[in-house]
Amino acid sequence: MTTDSFELGPIRPPSEAYSLLIRATRNCPWNRCKFCHVYKGKKFELRPVEDIKQDILAVKAIQDKLKEIALKSGYGERIEEVAAAILNNPLNEASFNVALWLYYGGDSAFLQDANTLIMRTPELVEVLKFLKQTLPSITRITSYGRSKTASKKKLEELIQLREAGLSRLHIGLESGYDPLLKYMDKGVTAAEHIKGGKNIVKSGISLCEYVLLGLGGKKMWREHATETAKVLNQINADFIRVRTLTIKEGMPLYEEVKNGNFIRATDEEIIEEEKLLMENLDCKSNFISDHITNLLQELEGKLPQDKEKMLATIARFQSLSPEEKQNFKLGRRLGIYEGLDDLDNSIKHDSVERAIQKLSQNGKQVNEELIYSLMERFI
Ligand code: SF4
Repeated sequence: MTTDSFELGPIRPPSEAYSLLIRATRNCPWNRCKFCHVYKGKKFELRPVEDIKQDILAVKAIQDKLKEIALKSGYGERIEEVAAAILNNPLNEASFNVALWLYYGGDSAFLQDANTLIMRTPELVEVLKFLKQTLPSITRITSYGRSKTASKKKLEELIQLREAGLSRLHIGLESGYDPLLKYMDKGVTAAEHIKGGKNIVKSGISLCEYVLLGLGGKKMWREHATETAKVLNQINADFIRVRTLTIKEGMPLYEEVKNGNFIRATDEEIIEEEKLLMENLDCKSNFISDHITNLLQELEGKLPQDKEKMLATIARFQSLSPEEKQNFKLGRRLGIYEGLDDLDNSIKHDSVERAIQKLSQNGKQVNEELIYSLMERFI
């Protein structure tokens, strides 16, 4: 029996904003990383394959209904027109997701939650095949996975997953520095990151490795940058995506900050760390900073050829006067600026200056605490 709804997990990568979301597992089987709050207090569960299939059938039922409405409304095959109307008035979160997915072409799906790769390979293959058979417009299926799990899967299993339709894995590498991985309780070593990453690359599944800028804090930033670059250089992932550490209540790291064990790096220090990471990267990967938490979201390019261009962007920020740096940092964290070029936009620049004046009238100033608290809103 199908329904008008299906189960959704809490998150997906920014690049999967328009993908259909299918919850293959619930929560995180590791769930111990100090910097992560997403699944804390929630138990990991493998969902029965039959339940996942019922969810896929529910998606098809919603899609069929939209097709019928499109036909009756004289739109013919143009289902996007109906999807757009549903987006303004969705029945529930699931129908919103289906409408969004269809509006943007209906060709991409993301399997939630934190480590789908932990499913038994034959079961995951069954889910992938059923998804493609039931919704044939899907040509790209991606998911999250842990390096440790990828390091334990046989290469043949990963190849089977690719052949069944798994196009890309998003892996939270975070760091390549073992003492930091241990301190953060990431549950993986640099060697396992390399083994898991190389396995995925060899299997032909596209790989996206996520690095967490600022994770080393004031103590380990240097080693975090250089050792992470070493690991990435060995993996040669298709994509390296950076995010910036943001801390909020509910994360074990929040307590570490409170009791003084972890000292956070400032925005300027994190940019210095990013520079060191970039200087040490010697791989053929696409570098992307598309996460809202990143100060320099515009850093993007293909390595190695765009390295100098990206370093020049970092140098441009570092050469700003202290006042302009302050203006830019606040503008980014208030969501006014998208990139450094916005500093030349007098309307935006003035509006940030007014915010700074207002803060000072209220006896406040643009300091790290204010920046950190503004960043919390992004996660
Ligand atoms: S493995 Fe990923 S989802 Fe699980 S606790 Fe760590 S960061 Fe969070």
